[in-house]
Amino acid sequence: MNNRNWFCWIAVFLCSALLLARSQAQSRPAADLIVTNAKVWTVDKSVASAQAVAVLEERIVAVGSSAEVDAWRGPRTQVIDAGGKLLLPGFNDAHLHFVSGGMQLNNVQLKDATSPQEFARRIGERAKITPEGEWILGGNWDETKWNPPSLPTKALIDAVTPDAPVFVTRYDGHMGLANSVALRLAGITAKTPNPPGGVIVRDEKGDPTGALKDAATDYIDKVIPPISHDQRMRIVKRALAYAASVGVTSVQHMGADYEDIAVYAELQRRAELTTRIYAAPLITNVDDQAKLGIGHAFGGPYLRIGAVKAFADGSLGSGTAYFYEPFLSQGNNRGLLSDEMHPIALMRDRYSKADASGLQICTHAIGDEGISTVLDLYAEVIKAHGEADRRLRIEHAQHMAAKDFDRFAQLHVIASVQPYHAIDDGRFAESRIGHDRASRTYAFRTFLDHGVRLAFGTDWEVAPLDPMLTVYAAVTRATLDGKNPNGWFPEQKLTVAEAVEAYTMGSAYAEFQENEKGSITPGKLADMVEVSDDIFSIAPENIRDVRVLKTFIGGRLVLDRDRTTGH
Ligand SMILES: [Zn+2]
Repeated sequence: MNNRNWFCWIAVFLCSALLLARSQAQSRPAADLIVTNAKVWTVDKSVASAQAVAVLEERIVAVGSSAEVDAWRGPRTQVIDAGGKLLLPGFNDAHLHFVSGGMQLNNVQLKDATSPQEFARRIGERAKITPEGEWILGGNWDETKWNPPSLPTKALIDAVTPDAPVFVTRYDGHMGLANSVALRLAGITAKTPNPPGGVIVRDEKGDPTGALKDAATDYIDKVIPPISHDQRMRIVKRALAYAASVGVTSVQHMGADYEDIAVYAELQRRAELTTRIYAAPLITNVDDQAKLGIGHAFGGPYLRIGAVKAFADGSLGSGTAYFYEPFLSQGNNRGLLSDEMHPIALMRDRYSKADASGLQICTHAIGDEGISTVLDLYAEVIKAHGEADRRLRIEHAQHMAAKDFDRFAQLHVIASVQPYHAIDDGRFAESRIGHDRASRTYAFRTFLDHGVRLAFGTDWEVAPLDPMLTVYAAVTRATLDGKNPNGWFPEQKLTVAEAVEAYTMGSAYAEFQENEKGSITPGKLADMVEVSDDIFSIAPENIRDVRVLKTFIGGRLVLDRDRTTGH
């Protein structure tokens, strides 16, 4: 071989190597984001754990070891070193009330005001930042924490609220305090009679003190104006920021008003949604969505509709959940079916209309007979319209009849449950319904054993939005009163892995999105959270203190505690 031939061979070799490198570069663009040096819990059984994730645009493109994922690095790739912290799929809250929750954040907080002076100071501070014409609401005050524990009066707050109407409620919801502006707007004077079922508290001269009990609060409720579009926008933005701060990247808004959806749609157009939303208006308006001809999960990755929320009965605490047997020591009260179930044929018709339109049905049912009645109706819908992938849901599914677990599974009904309610209601449930029925209350383990799919949520604003409290509740079942440190009906505890799966894949399945989110899997939306501690190895009772450090939605960092100072 002469020199000339050598030269040719080397040239051919170099050219093909160059071409190969180029074609590889073309088939693999550089990632926009790499999170490396993490403990990745994927919730994906094919790759249970990994150390790094690469994201291109808004989707995950690689999950694996730091070295494997590093192959996706390019000159413009943002690389985040997680410092060995745990990375989870973003939490998906399958049942909440997003705008009521946001309103609660917006309200003045008085629950831990331990003196009348502190109570007045907080209301005064709020008045300074309240736009003209808006009411100061909320509160949850508790005068039993004061010394002496006397009811607050308008005199306490009038001086700091000369212009703003105030109506702050007691924590139990049975009483509120109005200031003089609010009393004037409601037309309440010394001459106003007590309404049936209510009391206007008066001083020795007969003048209203501002405290109003039960039905007397209706006088005020009637004059509080409905919230404007701008107010609703501010409330939703606050809720979005709060959701990002606790690692909630998807929410399913049960009973959303159309005005709420209008705000979501506006934010979606402006690319300002930092939480994905599935909104389910009330089934009482099923005709509207049926007329539009949209089906379940209609929309895009940030905003979907196509579900309806129905009510079958009431709640345990108020004695209105519908049971086969009476509540203990409440005479023959066994609760009530809701007005939507009077007559049952009314609900049957609405279910039928919703299902025929391809809408997803989510029904609130808490008592054992309430749940059983809904399962009967669901079975009728399936029989009438034929088998289909409809993912019927029962919201809360709180007190199960033993006979219904199998039926729940056979009908492929999803149990959309809120574990925090278990550690809250667990304080008093047995005194209301006895040991036997309590043993099938929030029976998460029994559901899984029967092959029922769980979706986790909170019912925010009724319970806290923070997912760590829900995981803690499902894993420990330690009631809030501290009386069951080893768990209330501990045989129903879930493992941390099961709780995380129900809160991510389970909730994604419940909104027909299991191929789009719910696990850290190549191809899925890059919704992820980095948390302060490894919830799989710390003591379960410490899970409630774990904080979210970073929240990614579609690869976008929407919360970064490492960059926010002072927290
Ligand atoms: Zn709810």
